[in-house]
Amino acid sequence: GRESLMGTVGAVALDAAGNLAAATSTGGMTGKKWGRVGDSPIIGAGTYAANDCCAVSATGHGEFFIRAAVAHEIASLIRYRGLDVVEAADEVVMQQLVRLGGSGGVIAVGRDGRIAMPFNSEGMLRGAMDSRGLFATGTKSAPWCGRRRRRVSSGRTASRPFQGTSPTAPPCGRACRDPTG
Ligand code: ASP
Repeated sequence: GRESLMGTVGAVALDAAGNLAAATSTGGMTGKKWGRVGDSPIIGAGTYAANDCCAVSATGHGEFFIRAAVAHEIASLIRYRGLDVVEAADEVVMQQLVRLGGSGGVIAVGRDGRIAMPFNSEGMLRGAMDSRGLFATGTKSAPWCGRRRRRVSSGRTASRPFQGTSPTAPPCGRACRDPTG
């Protein structure tokens, strides 16, 4: 939905010491009722991080994210069902939320450094970097593709196409529009 292109800013991070953190800021939904509290400031709904599993920040139709306890549900699937962060985020965003009728997506990183950015809406502005040289951005199209950059001996940067492991991501080909690539 349009709301995924309209102003929520989220960030997740994993540091070298293994600390996971998540932050989410939003103006809420367009035309919202005065006093409405969305999912963004509710830990476990739109935002959650714990060092034993993952960090998650969500955007979308908050009422549904609260009902599904989206961010904590992703953590629970990792903790109790042993899924990795990509599988867990896909299960919640592409299955559970879709069944409820909730539109939106999440950015998430696992304690192993894997990154997931699934969305069931038309688009979600997103980007990711890691210490091994991954740099990926996207707006619409494939939920998860970009370019992996490697330093070559001359000091220049070489790129090769990179495709994430999300089962919902189409093959990284022409549909993958990486403005940096
Ligand atoms: N999730 C936010 C809310 O429901 C809105 C957004 O993500 O744009 O308040």
